[in-house]
Order: sequence, then C-alpha cells, then structure tokens
Amino acid sequence: MKRNIWKLKNLLICCFCLLLMLPCLAFGELELHFLDVGQGDAAVILCDGSVMMIDGGKPESSQMIYSYLTNTLGIDHIDVMIASHPHSDHVGGLSAALNACRTDVIYTPLYYYNDTVFLRFRDMAAERNMNFVMPLAGTSIAFGGANVSFLAPYKLYGDTNDNSILLRIDYGTTSFLFTGDAEIPEEQEVLSANPDALRADVLKVGHHGSSSSSSEVFLQAVHPKIALIGVGAGNTYGHPSSSVLKLLHDMDVELYRTDLHGTIILHSDGSTISVQTARAPESPESVYTLTWAAFLETEADAHSAAAYYVGNIKSMKFHTPDCEGAVKMSQKNQIRFETREEAIQAGYFPCGTCKP
Ligand SMILES: [Zn+2]
Ligand SMILES: [Zn+2]
Repeated sequence: MKRNIWKLKNLLICCFCLLLMLPCLAFGELELHFLDVGQGDAAVILCDGSVMMIDGGKPESSQMIYSYLTNTLGIDHIDVMIASHPHSDHVGGLSAALNACRTDVIYTPLYYYNDTVFLRFRDMAAERNMNFVMPLAGTSIAFGGANVSFLAPYKLYGDTNDNSILLRIDYGTTSFLFTGDAEIPEEQEVLSANPDALRADVLKVGHHGSSSSSSEVFLQAVHPKIALIGVGAGNTYGHPSSSVLKLLHDMDVELYRTDLHGTIILHSDGSTISVQTARAPESPESVYTLTWAAFLETEADAHSAAAYYVGNIKSMKFHTPDCEGAVKMSQKNQIRFETREEAIQAGYFPCGTCKP
C-alpha cells in the first residue's frame, strides 16, 4: 500500500513537471540572422528546421551571402525566399543564395523590373524552373512552428519602394515585422487596412531608417521593443535619418544597426527574445547618434549662413543656392529650406562641396 502511494506520488510529480515543460516542448527556436551587408538588407531566419531568407543585400555581398549560408549556417536548402522589392540593395545577393541553396519558393511583389541586377536574379530563378509568386495581402503561410502573414502590398505604386512586401512572423507570443523599403504611403495603406496587425516585438525599420519611411503613427502602431536597421557606415544617403532615430529613442526602443553592431542574431523560444551582436558599438549612446547632426554640431560654427538652402528630394542632400549641385539640380527635385536647421530636421544632409 505504502509502495503504491509512493508510486502515485512519483507519477503526480512527473505529470506536474511535464505540464511545466509544455511551453518549452511546444516551441523549439527561431533564430533571426540580420546580416551586415553594408548599405542593404539581408536576413536569414531558421525556425524548427525550416529556412527563410528575406533579401540578400547588394551584388557586392554575394560572396559573403554564399559563405554565410554554406559555411556559417551549413545549410543547402531554403524553404522560402522573399525578395521584398526589386532594388539591387535587396536582391543583389539573392542570386548567390540561389547558387548556394536549393530553394522551394520565391515571393516577390513584381515579375518585371528594368534593372540588370533584378533581371539576373530572375534569369537564375528561371534556370531553376522557378516562378515568382506574388503574395496576396491578407494571406499567410506556415514556416516551421511560426506563422508568416503577408500584410502588403495591396496595390502597385509608381514608387518601387512602396511595392515592398510587408510581412510579420509570429512565433509563440513573439513577433517580427519586416517592411522592406516601404515608405509612408505604403505604411498608411496598411495602417488604414489592418492597424491591429502591426504591433510587433521586433521591427526591421523601413528603408534603412530613411525619413521617407517610419512615420510616427506607423511606429506607434508597431510599438516595437527592438528595432533593426540595415545600413552601411558613412553611406551617402545619410541613413538612418535623425528624425527616425529620435522617434525610436523617444519610444525607448532597443536599437541595433548593422553599421555599428555588425551582424545581429536574435533568438526566440516562443516567449522571450534575446539578442547577440558581432560587435559592440563604442558607446551605447552612439547607437542613437544622429549620423549627420553629430557631425554638424561640431562643424556648425565653421559655416556661414546662406539666405536659403536648396535640398534635392532624390539624394536628400542640401546645398547653398550658388553651389553647382543646386544650380544644376532639376526643378522637380528641388525643395527649399529657409534655414539649415530646417533642412537637417527634414532629414537632409549637407553637400560635401559647398558645406552649407
Ligand atoms: Zn533598400
Ligand atoms: Zn528600395
């Protein structure tokens, strides 16, 4: 009798332990590698034995992409490849990924885009008898133990960035939002169609932190705990913009940037997310250092004020009115700023020649 009670007690303890272990048994691990590919985006996500790749950086990243997939991760198969949009800083290295790995499916928002880098990628896919699949907003696919929902594009825009695939990955209670280079019009589209779908723990910040993306209302809807920016050190676009950094800073977001942290690896067990980086920035504050504002603050006194300033909406540079860059600028690309502070606030950075 005593022996039976002892057995029953042991059985109950076992059952209790199993119950405690259930959440761990239900979820394995999701590992997100946000690769340092300089000015561009590339991410590889491993989830319960399945592999997804979202963008592959510029063509110059090809060797790095090939070696990361085959040597670092030791994989030869990609279940889902996403080309967020056809720009070369996103699809450039995807050809190398196709060379390195058998790939099951490629999602992209456009079948055709007149650019040699994209067309080479398309040809390589065709050689492998692969068709591009355009994901429909509102649909989802299973990926390991995770669920991937396509949130956009809803319609095609004239601006290629605004055709970016916006998707979220839900793994247990953790969530990740990828935005490609979506700019404010596409953000608005998702905000009005499905605002509740945006809230996520991790945000891959749109368009390398450019001020043409990440409106305050969009960031508030996502309300990320962690943000990732794929950006090259000293890039000529002035990415990430001071205005986006300020918004993230004011929202207390933990920010990781490939120019400062190198490759960033996130782990999720379905309930918590931990972060590992290839290197640490010189100081925690430097993560939010306003790329050009810091430079401008030290240089500010050396500049004499001009009557007004001319910004280029394409290059996001601003010039004094007499600078060759302003004189030769086509009228439709011009924006006028009354003060240099106004230009900096708007995310523009100073021309290296006229040093406004
Ligand atoms: Zn880009
Ligand atoms: Zn782009």
